[in-house]
Amino acid sequence: MGLVPGLVKGLVVTGSTVVRTVFPKRGMRTLVPAPTKGAATVQYPHVKEAPPTRARGVIALHEGNCTACMLCARECPDWCIYIEGHKEKAPPRRAAGKPRQVNILDRFDIDYALCMFCGICVDVCPFEALFWSPEYEFSEPRIADLLHDKERLTEWMETVPDFEDYEPGSVAKKLEVPPT
Ligand code: SF4
Ligand code: SF4
Repeated sequence: MGLVPGLVKGLVVTGSTVVRTVFPKRGMRTLVPAPTKGAATVQYPHVKEAPPTRARGVIALHEGNCTACMLCARECPDWCIYIEGHKEKAPPRRAAGKPRQVNILDRFDIDYALCMFCGICVDVCPFEALFWSPEYEFSEPRIADLLHDKERLTEWMETVPDFEDYEPGSVAKKLEVPPT
């Protein structure tokens, strides 16, 4: 399609969409605009949509499960997860056992100014430490404030919905960490 026919076709499609949105019932024959009836959007923030329970709103951290293994940070395509930790000696699990070495999480930040909400970090975490919350109201006037630290990410756990049972016949992988 040439440039001019393409432009004309695009303008026709846009114009008909505008008419259908502004005059949703009988086109321009009524001449009574009723744009809100035809609009597919909601009038946020006066009206708030209820997202599905499994919506990807924000990522919550269950700090007690995180071993600072760095797997999520390494797999994140945007490099927007920042983790720091240190090692500590822990008592042996059994009597007469050897002392263990455990990772202690010092820093866990996600920069939501860079995150593209792909969910790879949640999927790859082998210790059930990351969860999706459907909360979406965390915009900030300052872009630097979109960096959520460990404490803020932990607070999001309160908004993680309860786990639903898998469909019968599917692999029974029951998550062991309920929301705090
Ligand atoms: S959702 Fe994707 S982009 Fe965002 S922190 Fe996780 S891996 Fe990175
Ligand atoms: S959130 Fe999971 S994958 Fe990321 S460092 Fe913690 S345990 Fe490892």
